[in-house]
Amino acid sequence: MAYVIINKFIPATLYPLKAPYAMVPEYVTIHNTYNDATALNEIAYMTRNTAPVSYHVAIDDKYAVQAIPFTRNTFHAGDGPVGNGNRKSIGIEICYSKSGGPKYVAAEANTVEYVSHLLKRYGWGIDRVKWHQDWSGKKCPHRIIDEGRLQSVKDRIAKRLAELKNPKLVSMDEPQKEDDELKFSSPSLKAETEFTLQSKARREIIVNAAIASGAQPFWKERLNNGTITDGDILALAAKYTVAVNK
Ligand SMILES: [Zn+2]
Repeated sequence: MAYVIINKFIPATLYPLKAPYAMVPEYVTIHNTYNDATALNEIAYMTRNTAPVSYHVAIDDKYAVQAIPFTRNTFHAGDGPVGNGNRKSIGIEICYSKSGGPKYVAAEANTVEYVSHLLKRYGWGIDRVKWHQDWSGKKCPHRIIDEGRLQSVKDRIAKRLAELKNPKLVSMDEPQKEDDELKFSSPSLKAETEFTLQSKARREIIVNAAIASGAQPFWKERLNNGTITDGDILALAAKYTVAVNK
């Protein structure tokens, strides 16, 4: 299981419609898209439609695509213009929930991983994780509700968060070194990305994600013919993606 974080931020000209208020987040709200589109397509749709409906991140089996900074509110919780869901929570959509299947399972697993990292980053506990249903009563995330897994998904997040907070629980070695410079949003994300360069599969994931996000297709050829350097890949990662999680 792996995903790449891609930034596809909406233009600030759309803030009045999609993200009008400054926000200090206090919660994470999880949704199911009730659709079968990729994360990039969900974000593209959210960006181009003219409804005051929005969320921060869409996650599928390959990518976690962020469209709106966590310092702006989004309209996803159905609890009105001053509700805590819409004004204080980070909205996350799990893709492929309509039909389910392996791609949904992978998207949900990626969401568990992503939300665990968010909780760690903000110093939050599992009590900060909300369902759309908690705010407005809407049956969302529909698939998790239908399958009777609200508690088990939270348990998976709590377990992963505990691992992240205590690396001794994790079998995989996590990079601990601090880094400077480069255009990653945090030193630890840069370290994680550098760490992933040791794996050929991870290099390919970064290149594919960068191309999906607008980089020149020739990078794929250079990857395949071995002329791409670690510096190239790091630069692609810094420009087009934020991090690669294992
Ligand atoms: Zn929802």
